[in-house]
Amino acid sequence: MIDTAHQGPPVRLSAWLLTEPTNPKHERNLSSMLIKDCSWVVTQNPKREVLRDASVMIKDGRITQVGKGLKERPEVVIDGARKIVLPGLINTHTHLSMVLLRGYADDMRLQDWLQKKIWPLEARLTPDACYRGALLGCAEMIMSGTTTFMDMYFHMEDVAKAVQEAGLRAFLSYGIIDLFDAAKAKAEHEKSQKLFRHIQDLATPRIRFAVGPHSPYTCSPETLLWAKEFSEKNGVLNHIHVAETRKEQADSQKQHGARAVEYLDKIGALSNHMLAAHCVWLTKSEVTTLAKAGVSVAHCPVSNMKLASGGVAPLPEMFEAGVAVSLGTDGAASNNSLDMFETMKVCALLHKSHRWDPTVLNAQKTLDLATIEGAKALRIQDEVGSLEVGKRADIIMLDAQLPNLNPVHGGESVVSDLVYSASPANVDTTIVDGRVLMENRHIRTINLEQVTQDASETASRLVHG
Ligand SMILES: [Zn+2]
Repeated sequence: MIDTAHQGPPVRLSAWLLTEPTNPKHERNLSSMLIKDCSWVVTQNPKREVLRDASVMIKDGRITQVGKGLKERPEVVIDGARKIVLPGLINTHTHLSMVLLRGYADDMRLQDWLQKKIWPLEARLTPDACYRGALLGCAEMIMSGTTTFMDMYFHMEDVAKAVQEAGLRAFLSYGIIDLFDAAKAKAEHEKSQKLFRHIQDLATPRIRFAVGPHSPYTCSPETLLWAKEFSEKNGVLNHIHVAETRKEQADSQKQHGARAVEYLDKIGALSNHMLAAHCVWLTKSEVTTLAKAGVSVAHCPVSNMKLASGGVAPLPEMFEAGVAVSLGTDGAASNNSLDMFETMKVCALLHKSHRWDPTVLNAQKTLDLATIEGAKALRIQDEVGSLEVGKRADIIMLDAQLPNLNPVHGGESVVSDLVYSASPANVDTTIVDGRVLMENRHIRTINLEQVTQDASETASRLVHG
């Protein structure tokens, strides 16, 4: 991996990493780095160029050049031969610490699953459990090529600690559930504000706050409006579940005399700060309403299929209306992984199958949803989502020598390979903000063995008491 033939003295990458400061308040990238002579660079730039034998130069965590024959003198060189290099994947909806519940309760009806299995266990979650779970989730993301994610869960200060240690880029929201109780609502708003202040104090641009009202059916209109105002006043995203199931729509109709999106619109809760997860059961008119309000959508095809939500999110109509659509895994209890390669493939297949039309969602568009469109949904398209000069260096490198990625025909077929053939096992190197989090499938920021052992013990305590 380390190229000692570059100009200047050879540098061991691991030694360089050890020189990084450990105080997160002073976290910065000390080095320049060249990813040299990559077999393929899938830029995801506006022209969607796939470059052959190109290099990517990084300085102070930012991409400074992309192309051939770069004559830079970097401190560190990574060999890009036989690698496919692309922007890190963006998962816009998950519940990271739920990896602790992976495989714990499957093949059940949604309400039984929640009421009999998930909620009783979640009631016993401790800050330490969420921290251990979040570390395991971070390890899985690093090893499966995700560099940015949007989270919603509990004990989020502890999740922030895990994310900081792992080195990923994240938006963290505390899941507000007031059950239409004013006193509970006040306490929940305070918990959310506490997380907001905590993340401000961390002072790392990689970790951002999002306000997180769980859903229109678990939050009062007062909370939904409070979240909207908080998000607009503080310039943060408003992360919420909307129209996940047909039952939710039927209940909304009964309770409010309006479907979920209509109801949110009627009370004035929609805005262009909103990121709505799922949006499976929507009418065309609701799609138009979301588009007009500038709401982004996190589409979670694997979770929707596993929980048998029944419907299929109307992606073609959302595209036509101009809704910013992105991809999420949802929590690992309903997926059961955080694998964005699988999510891309399932997404493309689901919509092709559902519409009897193999052209309805092609490989390029699907990759867009997991990269640049994900960045747009999170309003960070100026920072990440493509390999372009000036953007932060969130980059993954896939080993193109493994059988499942051979042969590579080049050009457009590389994009097809990424969506239909690639898997987390191909991810060789993961870089966030110019910092190498994994090299040769070895995670450098956290101790994988310890993390998996701690998470197993934590999950066992959670289940067996
Ligand atoms: Zn969710």
